[in-house]
Amino acid sequence: MSTTMKDLKPTNDFSNISLKYVCPECDYDHWFFLSDLQIEGGYRRVCDVCQNILEPDPVDTVEIIYKDRPAPTKVEMVESVLQEGLNTMTLNACKHTLRTFGYYDKDIEDMIQQSYEYLKENDATALVKYAIENFGG
Ligand SMILES: [Zn+2]
Repeated sequence: MSTTMKDLKPTNDFSNISLKYVCPECDYDHWFFLSDLQIEGGYRRVCDVCQNILEPDPVDTVEIIYKDRPAPTKVEMVESVLQEGLNTMTLNACKHTLRTFGYYDKDIEDMIQQSYEYLKENDATALVKYAIENFGG
């Protein structure tokens, strides 16, 4: 019987990770181990093809970025809700429509804002309809 190790993570032994370098003289590809690139004083290697001496920049470490991000904290979720709201594009569409009914912008903004508090969606048609039914006249 086997179990699934879902969140298995690697050890921090990155010595076998290889990084690709291209010889500036002959364009030949070289793969250097991270452990070599971390050598104190710098790593040197003679190009197999053109005998040019390659001196890669010393590498400190490699960081793994995991795909599954942690779930947002409560504070972050509250902020994302607050960032939503009546957007300018929707409001402008509502103004455009309601002006034809003879409303002033200031009144339209109030009406639409209140409609939005109730409907909670950036749907100009629904907002205009709600505004006229409830605050119009
Ligand atoms: Zn070369």
